[in-house]
Amino acid sequence: MKAAVVPSVNGKWEVKQWETPKPGPNQVVIKIHASGLCYTDVHLTHGLIPLQFPHVLGHEPVGEIVELGPGVTTRKVGDRVGVGWVQKGCGRCEWCLRGKKELCQNNQSTGINLQGSHAEYMLAFADATMLIPDTLSYEQAAPIFCAGYTVWSGLRLADPKPHERIAVVGIGGLGHLALQYSKASGFETIAVTKSKDKEKMIRDLGADEVVGSGEKLLSGGGADVLLATSNSWSAVVDAAKGMRPDGRIILMGVGNEPLNYTPDLMFKRIRLIGSSQNGPEYLYEALDIAAKGKVKVVAETYKLDDINRAYDRVADGKVRFRAVITMN
Ligand SMILES: [Zn+2]
Ligand SMILES: [Zn+2]
Repeated sequence: MKAAVVPSVNGKWEVKQWETPKPGPNQVVIKIHASGLCYTDVHLTHGLIPLQFPHVLGHEPVGEIVELGPGVTTRKVGDRVGVGWVQKGCGRCEWCLRGKKELCQNNQSTGINLQGSHAEYMLAFADATMLIPDTLSYEQAAPIFCAGYTVWSGLRLADPKPHERIAVVGIGGLGHLALQYSKASGFETIAVTKSKDKEKMIRDLGADEVVGSGEKLLSGGGADVLLATSNSWSAVVDAAKGMRPDGRIILMGVGNEPLNYTPDLMFKRIRLIGSSQNGPEYLYEALDIAAKGKVKVVAETYKLDDINRAYDRVADGKVRFRAVITMN
């Protein structure tokens, strides 16, 4: 099969022949139809987590099951499925025993210690696959498996109450979905961005207000929840100036500088909460909301052969708002 292979840390991706996977016990082979390119793939190419290279990245896989391994009873050939980040826990640690495999320190993850989805075929544990609603296209579904799942999990973890105001900082792959999920849930939603050129698009996505700084956020009424999807923690700290007392900041990006919070956060009793993908019930909900048309992924699509162009646009922050790779 063809796959986009990262040859080494900081290496340029190469589309080339790669061994087509065969399913082991409890595994399925997915013929990939669409694969989202997440900014985390850029981090991983630069060595954020030590990986075994050469390696195939990609953790927003959707496609059709074409082969079942021994012991698979809950999935069948032809099922439309996608796979989240963490596929399998060790099964024996405290967090696995508590049913929270996403917190297992020895988990097996898509595109990390398992082959990723920027390829024509991908292996997955059957239990890690999620059926995709019939009305949701592959291109729309793929980004829900990391971006959508992450921001919906974060919004749920923030536990917003009626009448609370929600701000989103970092309007990219995650952020453009975060503000739509917040609006779909009925919350007044404010986007915080310094990119003036995005303002009209952001309003079209449903934002009630677009502000350029935390101070502007505060003077306009502030936020009870800040969904921080930015990869710049200085942008998060600035937006945090707009928090109302007892607010919650949900950190979902990976900043590459220290997170310098201010005493203001202490006096306002602000909580900083880390969050990624918090369990399959949130993936189910995130897909269901998208299938009902209440959240729409805004994507640029690229063929697998053209994946380097997509990578460069993601790395440069130019994609509006998600890059999706299609295989045929
Ligand atoms: Zn991701
Ligand atoms: Zn475990």
